[in-house]
Amino acid sequence: MPAKKPRRTDIALQADMGALQDRRPVIVTALPGPKARALIARAMPVISPSLIHVYPLMVARAAGCMVEDVDGNVFLDCQAGVATASTGHCHPAVAAAIAAQAQRLIHICGTDFHYPGYGDLCARLDQHATRFASAAGRGPGRGRRWQTFLTNSGTEGIEAAIKLARYHTKRAHLIAFRGGFHGRSMGSLSLTASKSKYRKHFGPLLSGVHHATYGDLASIERDLFARTVSSEEVAAIVVEPVLGEGGYLVPARAFLRGLRDLCDRHGILLVFDEVQSGLGRTGRMFAAEHFGVVPDVFVLAKGLASGMPLGAMTAQKRFMTWPAGSHGSTCGGNPVCIAAALATMDLLEGELFANASRVGAHLKARLQDRLRGMKIVEDVRGLGLMIGVELATHDVASAIAQDCYRRGLLVLECGDKAIRLSPPLVLSRAQADQAVDIFAAACRAA
Ligand code: PLP
Repeated sequence: MPAKKPRRTDIALQADMGALQDRRPVIVTALPGPKARALIARAMPVISPSLIHVYPLMVARAAGCMVEDVDGNVFLDCQAGVATASTGHCHPAVAAAIAAQAQRLIHICGTDFHYPGYGDLCARLDQHATRFASAAGRGPGRGRRWQTFLTNSGTEGIEAAIKLARYHTKRAHLIAFRGGFHGRSMGSLSLTASKSKYRKHFGPLLSGVHHATYGDLASIERDLFARTVSSEEVAAIVVEPVLGEGGYLVPARAFLRGLRDLCDRHGILLVFDEVQSGLGRTGRMFAAEHFGVVPDVFVLAKGLASGMPLGAMTAQKRFMTWPAGSHGSTCGGNPVCIAAALATMDLLEGELFANASRVGAHLKARLQDRLRGMKIVEDVRGLGLMIGVELATHDVASAIAQDCYRRGLLVLECGDKAIRLSPPLVLSRAQADQAVDIFAAACRAA
């Protein structure tokens, strides 16, 4: 038998990943390259056709903000695995925490047993929510503690929020907003109203869900409470404080403040879906902090564990009235995901909230500057590293996203005709400038 090749040492691997992290985007083959083309052709017959695959990218590895495909093409990632790789791809501290935990305990089930870490992560979330509620100095959050139920995903976090709201209020109805995206399981899908294709042929969905117009506070009392559902029957209003999939729209402060007031007046729980906007994406722990509005429930996921599957439904303790056994999850909050999340929180609190705020402001200003005067660009908006560019038409947005990919920049579309930039929160100013150069070139060519 031929001798086994010696394994590369961890140090060599780390140096290699470090080198990738410092690279610039470079496209060395036609896209997709030959290896990607072959692998994709092999996979397609056996994977669900419901998956989207926005471009034919076959990723081999990723470090920081850089992604390398199987043919050696290197991309600057301004979508971060759909706003998830918060600390950058494969951050050494997160990877080390995962590896160390995987050697001690992978799973035992947090619903039925205790293990170190579960409470620590929930305490971190409590600290952030309590800090924010106290700083906001008003509303029901003041001085109260928060408790958390951990899940495997954002959609499960929303499911948990729906169930808690119904359980606690003993009311059945829910209000969400047109343009909102809350997930794809049956309960969360019932709230989702960003694209009809997400809902088509999946009905009947959850009964008792009503949609209002995002940003239009008056429509709730005028259209819903007056004509469709009595406020006394509404358990929760579920809203993204910054609209994600629906277009990276930042609402007026008065809208969220008005929702808070409405919920207080009618005994309705205010649920902020911060699956995409939370965990430093906007430069603060919660996007809600930009508006000074404290909800009753936060739902977090995506960036929480840097890409490991973890979500959180964090509610004010006084609403956590459901008893043992009423809700649970086999793998939700498993020890490996929690280890990743604790390492992620250290990095976010250490410098990444501030970096997202600083580099995000720089990126937005540079985009506004470089795209100014282009007829196809209607708006550049956003908070922190959650930046949307509104284009003239859907076709223009699609063409630009595809062209960015061919030039070595990964972005995603959102809304009807917008492109979102949601890079890892480790993005440097130099990388932001590279992203702007490529994006502007794609806009000029469109
Ligand atoms: N809520 C929001 C605001 C989201 O953006 C998403 C996913 O994009 C979800 C919920 C669903 O999260 P997941 O895909 O982790 O189930």
